[in-house]
Amino acid sequence: MRKLLLAAAGAAALTGGFASAAVAASHQDAAAETQSAANPLLAEWTGPYGGVPAFDQMDLQYLRPALEEGMNRYRAEIDAIAQNPEPASFENTIVALEGVGDDLGRVFTYYGIWSSNLSSPEFREIQREMAPRISAFYSEINQNKDLFARVQAVYESDAVETLRPDQQRLVQLTYDGFARNGATLDGEAAERYAAIQSRLAELHTQFSNNVLADEESYVTWLSEDQLSGLPDSLVRAAAAAAADRDREGEYAILNTRSSMDPFLTYSDERELRREVWETYYARGDNDDEFDNNAVIAEILQLRDERVELLGYDNYAQWRLEDRMAGTPERALELMETVWPAAIARVEEEVDQMTALAAEQGHDIDAVQPWDYRYYMEKVRQAEYDLNSDEVKQYFNIENLREAMFFVAGELFDFAFEEVPEGSVPVFHEDVRVWDVTDTESGDHIGLFYLDPYARTGKRSGAWASSYRGHSTFDGQETVLSSNNSNFIQGAPGEPVLISFDDATTFFHEIGHALHALSSNVAYPTLNGGVRDYTEFQSQLLERWVLTDEVIDNYLRHAETGEPMPAELVEKIRAASTFNEGFATTEYLASALVDMYYHTTDPEGIDPDQFERDTLERLGMPEELPMRHRSPHFGHIFSGEGYSAGYYGYMWADVLTSDAAEAFAEAPGGFYDADLAERMVETLFAPRNSIDPAEAYRQFRGRDATVEPLMRDRGFPVPREDAASEGEDPAQ
Ligand SMILES: [Zn+2]
Repeated sequence: MRKLLLAAAGAAALTGGFASAAVAASHQDAAAETQSAANPLLAEWTGPYGGVPAFDQMDLQYLRPALEEGMNRYRAEIDAIAQNPEPASFENTIVALEGVGDDLGRVFTYYGIWSSNLSSPEFREIQREMAPRISAFYSEINQNKDLFARVQAVYESDAVETLRPDQQRLVQLTYDGFARNGATLDGEAAERYAAIQSRLAELHTQFSNNVLADEESYVTWLSEDQLSGLPDSLVRAAAAAAADRDREGEYAILNTRSSMDPFLTYSDERELRREVWETYYARGDNDDEFDNNAVIAEILQLRDERVELLGYDNYAQWRLEDRMAGTPERALELMETVWPAAIARVEEEVDQMTALAAEQGHDIDAVQPWDYRYYMEKVRQAEYDLNSDEVKQYFNIENLREAMFFVAGELFDFAFEEVPEGSVPVFHEDVRVWDVTDTESGDHIGLFYLDPYARTGKRSGAWASSYRGHSTFDGQETVLSSNNSNFIQGAPGEPVLISFDDATTFFHEIGHALHALSSNVAYPTLNGGVRDYTEFQSQLLERWVLTDEVIDNYLRHAETGEPMPAELVEKIRAASTFNEGFATTEYLASALVDMYYHTTDPEGIDPDQFERDTLERLGMPEELPMRHRSPHFGHIFSGEGYSAGYYGYMWADVLTSDAAEAFAEAPGGFYDADLAERMVETLFAPRNSIDPAEAYRQFRGRDATVEPLMRDRGFPVPREDAASEGEDPAQ
């Protein structure tokens, strides 16, 4: 569900922004000097398609020296700009900054692959050592007084008014990148700021490695007689996972979401469900060397202290300043509007489950958190006659990928053609690459890399990342975008069948890729995402999974090849608001706790206690947990990408529901050519070159409202909002 973040340096490292502050590491590695000439991680990307990463030459021995040399080169480029004898101008300062750091950026592409797709103890060792130094490096740049003086001179000059709007925005974003990150500080404050950044980088890495350690080291072992209720696909995957661990004949339920979730949905063994549930939700919370509670407390205190140096009341205030929501209050207002409807729905769902359990003669006192998925699946089958395993037969990932390409063709005029085998290096044999061209002009737009399957060392979940963004200021750069997921690979030759939810996530991630591929910005910084807005584009793409064109042509039964029957489609649609109490509540609980963490004075905070107290105050139902409990909430503690920002998914979903209604109402529906063109022009291509609120108004002719979201989730629409739009609240 999220874009790749470098755990080490934060997203800023990837986009050329400046995220931090600290004392520069003066350590010089002689080996780095001698190796740099031949270091493949630093080398210019060569080959077809404007040059591609040398993923076939990745070797960890090159990483440390490449990072060292990349930072040295970056530093030299920065010095040249800072020491330029000419007066500061837009061209020689702001635009010049857009061109620096390419060498280090290339190293970070490989670093990101090692961090997310191919992690290993050896890599984590390097990461632990280098993360604070990378952070210190960015701090050093951000604290470069000569450089900031020049940026400030341009920012304050009258010449800005003569620039194009996107150039004016670039000046603003560049200036903010410094000012919001400590450049205005002097003396002791600057030093303290730098020390905090360096320590935070260590803590973020530690947090994420602790979670991974708990995901990799805990396995629930099952024997043959403990498989009751489990679908064949899960049994096969569990057998394969056991074989991988040299325990042939047993079954391994791994401590990851993609194992835990289906197990809890189907297993008839209540005690085992409890065990798997407890193991999963205790990640980072086992009171051992990988426990994250103390890490969280220190992170919160340091974040708070850092923004206090800059004059903010709390971390969330600083964080949201350049987000679409603007303030923590506006984000909280949205969440608190939806929360009561969500927990009221949980109560109804629990009643349904309790009744069903009694009907089936199950002797459970009360629905426990490890029962929720299981009984909801039973309710789903009873109420909607919808069997998830039957539904899966129609979601073959190869067909879905073709469906995504079809949708991209219809909406974006993109054509996808797989590159000839061996023409583009990949970092694992599972990865496939497509050439993306414009269907009208035939122009090459970029490449699309897909890494679909789970493996040891790959982080869980699904995400998109770009190895290169679009820009034109220094010659045309084409896009290298990627999607990454954790589908369980079947036996050789067998189709990989996934759930409707996973199919939706698959479309979500291509939404991120299409957002990157459709960019028309001139400057790299303008590709940057506004966190509560960039999930919108990807969430919107999810809406195409169940369009008629996709159903008829791509959702075909794995064995019979028949398209999904109309009755089944209807059942899926009818069930779309099903379980929304669980889904919205588990999400909002995490999002609210995140926002409260970052608006509360963290002095002496005990995260465990804070989480419990907050949930109690919110009236959190006992029958389910937060989607991400604090000790493994990587979105907010493995880096700063989503800290005080997890709300952003719902913020974006307000836009998504509102925009989807525009398509539903258009003459050509979801394939309306005019509306699709306007969508690409206003919501995708400009990226961050215009204000997101303004972009949305250009698309919709007005601001988004919350009612479509409430309707989509089957919640009662708040009366006053309904009145203002003249909608039927009962809809
Ligand atoms: Zn996403």
